[in-house]
Amino acid sequence: MMENTLNSLYGDMVEWRRRMHRHPELSFREHETSKWIAGLLESWGLEVRRGVAGTGVVAKLVGGRPGRSVALRADIDALPIQDAKTCEYASTVPGVMHACGHDGHTAELLGVARYYSRHREETAGTRVFLFQPAEEVLPGGAVSMIRDGALEGTDAVYGVHLWSPLPYGTVATRSGPFMACPDEFEVEIKGKGGHAGLPHESADALVAGAALVTALQTIVSRSVNPLESAVVSVGQLHAGTANNVIAETCRLSGTIRSFTPGIRALVRRRLEEIVRHVCGMHGVDFRYQYFEGYPPVVNDEAEALRMLEVAARALPDCRAVRSEPIMAGEDFSYYLKEKPGCFFFVGAGKEDGSSAPHHHPMFDIDERAMLTAARLLVAAADDSAAR
Ligand code: MN
Repeated sequence: MMENTLNSLYGDMVEWRRRMHRHPELSFREHETSKWIAGLLESWGLEVRRGVAGTGVVAKLVGGRPGRSVALRADIDALPIQDAKTCEYASTVPGVMHACGHDGHTAELLGVARYYSRHREETAGTRVFLFQPAEEVLPGGAVSMIRDGALEGTDAVYGVHLWSPLPYGTVATRSGPFMACPDEFEVEIKGKGGHAGLPHESADALVAGAALVTALQTIVSRSVNPLESAVVSVGQLHAGTANNVIAETCRLSGTIRSFTPGIRALVRRRLEEIVRHVCGMHGVDFRYQYFEGYPPVVNDEAEALRMLEVAARALPDCRAVRSEPIMAGEDFSYYLKEKPGCFFFVGAGKEDGSSAPHHHPMFDIDERAMLTAARLLVAAADDSAAR
């Protein structure tokens, strides 16, 4: 029954996903998306709360049989990226694009909500559907969802990320630390500009910035135990205005990824030391800021193992595999700090690994993965609710 009903919703999921893909909205500004989601859920008879965490939506369905209350989460925001695709469902909003698959997450969770609305009587327990804004920008929408009571009365929480580096037909999760803690930093170097022909009369912010980028590479290679993991990536470096002018300022920013509090603190301390000393060496001033990101996504050991078995049983046509840890971050971590549960990856990429990466202007998903994810969420929720 489950198979048949979910399969019959696949066409709707594709339509919903493409509609969202054409009309992406940035983090915390998902006003139209949110209205549209709430309208659909209300039309199916669910109990809907609008305006949770600003542009989030929470819907509830109480099944006809006794059981626990299980929350299922999708994120709904897009990214500030220009869509480079030319297909009929390409983004119609300049500079904004669903380049991480959140449109697919929303569509598959709508499919799951529609499924349960058709099977309310035979459903054991309660299902709570979380449509969360702003997964992509700190501090993330999950914190506000929780603050606004989205998890109240629930016993467990599950979520899925469609993942293009994994081929379609794969479901993956892992016990323990799964996704990293993504912190960010910004450094603004203030030197003394001047004539490029008279460098001795200036303090070159650009040279200091270049030295800093190089020095920061030693944090992971020289300070972090090689058997541990961390990432220090400088993503932006801006300096200078003309060929014959010495740059007065240089702005650089980047991201730090780690899994444990110890490594996180070590990298942060080394970053601060290196910024201070490199700038001192070059005789320039600086302004430094550090932004703490999401906690790491940590799956409960027993729950993740159980869920791999649930996935293998419910999706006999898929490979259910134990994932390696991944250095991307996810604010699903906040839900897992509140309630037991599990986060999964569902393969949405090409078999040969040639899919464009997440956050790329050519990013796309294998839409069939939405059906895999919907089947997985139903299986996880039904297993959890029946305990
Ligand atoms: Mn994402």
